[in-house]
Amino acid sequence: MPGKVIVVERRAKLTWVERLYLPMIVKGLAVTSRRFFRNLAGFITGNRKSFVVQYPEERVDYPDAFRGMPVLVQLESGQPKCVACGLCEFACPTDCISIVPGELEAAGIERYPEKFEIEMSRCMFCGLCEEACPEEAIVMSREVELASYDRGSLRFQKEQLLVPESLLKRRLDFIRSDYDRPHGGEPSRRSA
Ligand code: SF4
Ligand code: SF4
Repeated sequence: MPGKVIVVERRAKLTWVERLYLPMIVKGLAVTSRRFFRNLAGFITGNRKSFVVQYPEERVDYPDAFRGMPVLVQLESGQPKCVACGLCEFACPTDCISIVPGELEAAGIERYPEKFEIEMSRCMFCGLCEEACPEEAIVMSREVELASYDRGSLRFQKEQLLVPESLLKRRLDFIRSDYDRPHGGEPSRRSA
């Protein structure tokens, strides 16, 4: 079931009908009743497809604007696209990112993250790390199933965070159009 984006139009001034309140209350009750009887019919007939997602067998295809847990973009070579500049670490309001930069001279890379850790128990999925990253190396994924009984297991290391670039294409296309980046998403280096 594809996710739907509903654009809510908020006008600064109410019309005279809206200012009377009563017509709007009746309109609200009509919407509630319509939903109630549609759902009731679904429960009686067993056709719940239109209003229930049979989780976990069925999953919602979240819109491209959806922000799940942040992940690291992995190049075809297996290396992270990240150059360990530290901007995401600086931008993160909950201080849940920690990076240890390293050098990989043999591969022609000045810097790469020797260690990249995100403490997901503190992450609030705000997306500021993604916005701050000049390399499109950290993006918000659709993953939200992070529940755990053990806080320690929510410290995600670089190897757990890496996701192949091809699987993140929809999000990357979205942020390129949304942030209107002048370099159009082209990476500054691809030799990794
Ligand atoms: S989504 Fe927000 S809180 Fe989570 S790591 Fe990124 S900047 Fe930090
Ligand atoms: S993910 Fe992006 S912002 Fe964060 S250290 Fe790597 S290149 Fe810099």
